[in-house]
Amino acid sequence: MHDFELMISQRSKAIDVSGIRRVFELGAKLKDPINLSIGQPDFPVPETLKEAAIEAIRQDKNGYTLTQGVAELRDAINRHLTSDIGWDMNSSDTMMLVTSGTSGALLLAVQALLNPGDEIIAGDPYFVVYPSLAELCGATFVPCDTYPDCRMTAARVEPLITDRTKIVLVNSPGNPSGVVLTNDELKDLVDLCKRKGVLLISDEIYDEFTYEDAREDGRCPSPARFDDQMLVVRGFGKSYGCTGWRMGYVAGPASIIREMAKLQQYTFVCAPSMSQYGLVGVFDVDMTSYVEAYRRKRDMVIRAFDGVANLATPGGAFYAFVEVPESMGLTATQFVEKGIEQNVLTIPGNVFSKADTHFRISYATSDDKLEAGLEVLTGLMAQVASAT
Ligand code: PMP
Repeated sequence: MHDFELMISQRSKAIDVSGIRRVFELGAKLKDPINLSIGQPDFPVPETLKEAAIEAIRQDKNGYTLTQGVAELRDAINRHLTSDIGWDMNSSDTMMLVTSGTSGALLLAVQALLNPGDEIIAGDPYFVVYPSLAELCGATFVPCDTYPDCRMTAARVEPLITDRTKIVLVNSPGNPSGVVLTNDELKDLVDLCKRKGVLLISDEIYDEFTYEDAREDGRCPSPARFDDQMLVVRGFGKSYGCTGWRMGYVAGPASIIREMAKLQQYTFVCAPSMSQYGLVGVFDVDMTSYVEAYRRKRDMVIRAFDGVANLATPGGAFYAFVEVPESMGLTATQFVEKGIEQNVLTIPGNVFSKADTHFRISYATSDDKLEAGLEVLTGLMAQVASAT
């Protein structure tokens, strides 16, 4: 018999999923939980997009596509980028690549850029996958402490930059906090990265889900409006309810994107064909009513915790990152376990952070479930407040 344990690479072993696995195991025991842990929207894919994907399958468009993506979708994305961030997508210095999800774009980016020993900085709390992106390359993940406001500002990043820093990765609207940085803050990050010779990567997967109060000139703030010498990564899964379609894209300097396309050719090959055809008309779909519905849910969350617990005001995505009141004397993991005992599932902060002081709520659920879940969570907090 082989000892398969011994065969597993150091690279794979270095990735620790114990925190999130524990939550899922606890959650799996619940019969009909109030699930505030899910990182995807609760609305269906718009009908026109479904029809376009089905039609592509029927028309036998089921083979490999060009690794860069099908022409119709590429044209649509390039037009969108030009109108949204002002990049000249016809320039030979700038390129765009359609990828298998935003995850695909991020993985290709780090694989194309990071050598062992290089450093990548991202805000703490961070999207759960970011540290492992570094580990997969033998690089070092450098968390930038952004507590309590979850804003990764240039002032917080600058002291962390060393001569091994290659990438600063910014995520706004952010997972797990929903916090949206301002154009001024993002411009400062652009300037810092330029001055230090570091590449800025902007993960904008939640850009569509930015609420009116966090928008500037009607749009989600983006560092890409100040510079095209960076990578902008976006996706369709969250914005259009099609996370399983595995669709994203990345745009930036041609010399980097060409390397990423080469790696994609030899790994993912291409993004799923029916998903690409399904999304050709995506920029004509109006998601305003869904964004408005999530804005209302965001307001429900803010109201529920007002005067009860601290949270950085979410300006987008569908998350809130709530601090467990200190008076409870509990880690976030312990608090989340108490919630689970009452059938409410959230995710403890140590999954997204070096700290275990906050928990993430996803409010991408029905108003009734959200209301019921918030009642349980704030009720747990109130019990302690009245006992002390
Ligand atoms: N970036 C962030 C910040 C995310 O929250 C997620 C999904 N949870 C991703 C990237 C990956 O998204 P995709 O499904 O497009 O790979």
